[in-house]
Amino acid sequence: MHLPLPTGVIDPPRPPRLAMLGGTFDPVHLGHLRSAVELLEVLELDRVHLIPASVPPLRGEPRVSPEERLLLLRLGIGDTPGLVADPRELHREGPSYSADTLASLRKEFGVDARLVMALGHDAFLRLADWHEPERLFAMAHLVVIDRPDHEAPLSAALDALITGREVDSPDALMARPAGGLLRLALPTRMAISATEVRRRLAEGNSVRYLLPEAVEHHLLAHGLYRY
Ligand code: ATP
Repeated sequence: MHLPLPTGVIDPPRPPRLAMLGGTFDPVHLGHLRSAVELLEVLELDRVHLIPASVPPLRGEPRVSPEERLLLLRLGIGDTPGLVADPRELHREGPSYSADTLASLRKEFGVDARLVMALGHDAFLRLADWHEPERLFAMAHLVVIDRPDHEAPLSAALDALITGREVDSPDALMARPAGGLLRLALPTRMAISATEVRRRLAEGNSVRYLLPEAVEHHLLAHGLYRY
């Protein structure tokens, strides 16, 4: 005989919680990786997918190939729990639009998944110029990571895009699968950029402690970003 379970004893399963941190990763550095780890903790996520763009739509061609940037990302992540180097944009032709990437994550993880697109404040400032920016909010929440040296006023177009979307806590964001905006000051703000890393490598200067050691060794052993 089956007795009915007392109500309230078993919680319904929690929907999956995932974030995408897309970028050029030319090369990956500790600003990316530390932000990803802190995002995981602050938003209580199951996973952060770090997704290198094959063909970044709004900038010049990266210095090294998509495959090599993915390899560097894998080396950088190593065995870090909860971080995944996700190659899905390398399998698509043409420009790597984030809206398409989010659509593929949504398809994989389902309508109830809490899906976050994380991006630094510098990237957020240009959001209104992205391909189908409204569709990004249909697919995911946006979490904007505060980044040193990148404060600037929002454009009118960006202001219009985010009107009515902002929430003030991770709990409020995670109450729904998509559509919200949260600005986060993560515990560790790092003024590291790939531009600075490339400049140092081209000048023959040290990049120690800006990148994981495995990434540094690979870069130096293969002479990447030297010229
Ligand atoms: P570049 O200097 O070549 O423009 P980048 O260092 O900004 O590169 P990207 O690969 O373009 O690196 O960044 C991917 C994402 O990570 C973007 O949303 C960017 O804002 C964010 N990001 C990069 N560096 C940091 C950092 N130090 N702290 C927080 N977020 C960062």
